[in-house]
Amino acid sequence: MPYKDKEKQRECDRKRYIANPEKFKKQSREWKAANPEKVREIDRRSRAANREKLKERSRERRIANPEKARESWRKWQAANPEKKRAQRILKQAVKNGEIKKQLCANCGNENTEAHHPDHSKPLKVIWLCRSCHKIFDNAGY
Ligand SMILES: [Zn+2]
Ligand SMILES: [Zn+2]
Repeated sequence: MPYKDKEKQRECDRKRYIANPEKFKKQSREWKAANPEKVREIDRRSRAANREKLKERSRERRIANPEKARESWRKWQAANPEKKRAQRILKQAVKNGEIKKQLCANCGNENTEAHHPDHSKPLKVIWLCRSCHKIFDNAGY
């Protein structure tokens, strides 16, 4: 019976590992060095499986909690009416062609978003990429 053999093999491996973990580890290292192709394949497979799992989990969370996601967005809007208003006005201005998106003022990245130093002046913005924007916001500009 193949199943039993496999079980026996595993039990045997386990005992060998307990008896001499260093030797077992060395063997496994040697096997990896001798089979780089297989190692890559195993790696690739476990990474793909992991990705799928993560994706699945976040999807489940969203489905389980759509109300919560909307609620936190509502709270943010209520807490930041000025910001919200500035963003709305700016968005409209960009749409109308009054304002043009520009490269990141800090690093030149072309994927930018608007930073408002003063939310009471919705059209006075600095264009920043996402990571530079975080830096500016954290610095309190
Ligand atoms: Zn940048
Ligand atoms: Zn900002």
